[in-house]
Amino acid sequence: MEFHCIEDCAQCCIEREYYPSKKFGKIGVLILPEEKDRIEQLAIKNKLEIKILPRVGISERNDSSPSKVLAYQLMGSEKNGNTCPFLDTTSGKKSPHGGYPCKIYNKRPLACTAYPLIESEPITLDQKCKFCKEHGNAHANLNSEIESLLKIKEKMIPEFPVIWRYATNIGEIEDQEVMDSGWILEK
Ligand code: SF4
Ligand code: SF4
Repeated sequence: MEFHCIEDCAQCCIEREYYPSKKFGKIGVLILPEEKDRIEQLAIKNKLEIKILPRVGISERNDSSPSKVLAYQLMGSEKNGNTCPFLDTTSGKKSPHGGYPCKIYNKRPLACTAYPLIESEPITLDQKCKFCKEHGNAHANLNSEIESLLKIKEKMIPEFPVIWRYATNIGEIEDQEVMDSGWILEK
């Protein structure tokens, strides 16, 4: 089946998940280090306040923090971590499939161009995507998503063995007690 966005849907630009668990808070859109400046400039151009936090770091030893940031994340604009700040929810404009449009669509982060693909061999889509909920998996019309995912994977190969994950401390009020903040050693 060919992948296509569901009419009126903008769910992936709105809903953010706790990952890998509530302790880490909700994650944002993955931003590669080389994309960070460009996204910050786009926010200024669009008169938007954005928050970019680190996401994954690496180091040679188990020191107190990583020596290199492998990826950042663009946090949602709501207090609970949801809704990308670049999503246009107010002007009444529509995306080509009728959902809220992205203000930086042609310059959006690589992670947005890869979604909902999470694995290319075999092709695996994020089951939280509304298309997947309605149709299961897709195997066609995913060429640009595959290309983007491969680029991200290439950039995310760690050159050091120790991996750190950043706890955002952002999420629902009722989860505040279990959420941590700052770098946590992953392995
Ligand atoms: S990728 Fe999935 S969740 Fe996102 S807008 Fe398209 S159908 Fe909706
Ligand atoms: S940058 Fe655009 S496509 Fe990416 S999550 Fe934000 S609104 Fe959606």
